[in-house]
Amino acid sequence: MPSITTEIKINAPAHIVWNILDDTDYYRQWNSTVLSMAGKTTLGQKLALEFSPGDKVMNIKVRISRLVALREFRWGGKLPERIWQGNPIEKWLMPLLFIGEHALIIEPVGEDSCRFVHTEDFSGLVPTLAWKKIGPEMDTAYNKMNAELKARAEAIYKKKYDFKLHPAVDLGVKNAPDNSAGNFSGSTLSCHCVIQPVEVAVNSQSAHNHLCGCSLCWKPKEALFAQVAVVPKEKVKVTANQQKLKVVDRTATIQRHACRDCGVHMVGRIENTNHPFYGLDFIHTELSNIDGWAPPQFSAYVSSLVESGTQPQIMSAIRNRLKELGLPPSDALSPELMDNIAAHSAPS
Ligand SMILES: [Zn+2]
Ligand SMILES: [Zn+2]
Repeated sequence: MPSITTEIKINAPAHIVWNILDDTDYYRQWNSTVLSMAGKTTLGQKLALEFSPGDKVMNIKVRISRLVALREFRWGGKLPERIWQGNPIEKWLMPLLFIGEHALIIEPVGEDSCRFVHTEDFSGLVPTLAWKKIGPEMDTAYNKMNAELKARAEAIYKKKYDFKLHPAVDLGVKNAPDNSAGNFSGSTLSCHCVIQPVEVAVNSQSAHNHLCGCSLCWKPKEALFAQVAVVPKEKVKVTANQQKLKVVDRTATIQRHACRDCGVHMVGRIENTNHPFYGLDFIHTELSNIDGWAPPQFSAYVSSLVESGTQPQIMSAIRNRLKELGLPPSDALSPELMDNIAAHSAPS
């Protein structure tokens, strides 16, 4: 039986390609072969396609014959009479002769690329003469659609380079110079106000520095994450313009003291003496312009980014970037700290 097999390698993860294929409302924006697809993409459903191999447009009704989420989308149908114009006999015969099964298959290749296999198998009494014309037309059309799908998926995936995690890590995590890491004993943090900045003296190296994706921590402009570390609270002292500080949310576990004027959080304190982190203050070490602070080691509350408006489609790219940077992503705190909290809360 005649068949068409085309494929293309796409430098984007399988789920991005799948989302594009599943988002049938947007076909007209990128697809010049299947111009539109009306109907629900669930198994057994009928779809109405506007199909355009070359310069003609045909309206086809197909039925979804197989659907494997993220991997395979298959439909079957008959080619309509309009594909063969002019000859009335063939016009009448075509629907009986050309019964096609169309398959879109996504095979992941590693984490961020995939192979897209696009085929059509025909059954019925496909006439050789007609096939000579239709075969190459379809082959060209499917290759064109593959290239368009690739362009769209890669453009969406490239957006991964558009996000900014945090200025402290976007150009690579800067490690404290070996000789100073142990000797470093803190510095002064300043808020962003040009006039009368709030200043906080920290007389200690920081610990557990990490990126935090939660919606409560203060983040620099355009950064998806906050950078947060802890220091013993007795090592923290507000040294200038304390009157400008106010607590952002008194009901939160961490009382975040922010500058009234610029909004920067200067210090977060836990007042609950039963909390496992009681005694530690939370600070943002980038508020000091001195090098030597301990670098971030992991990233916490990563999935919370979605709650604050990050597109779910770019989450895997964000997680990959965090892994590349050596900041293992977690959806709570690091496993070490979670164990510490659990041990502290367990009945003794
Ligand atoms: Zn300020
Ligand atoms: Zn946070």
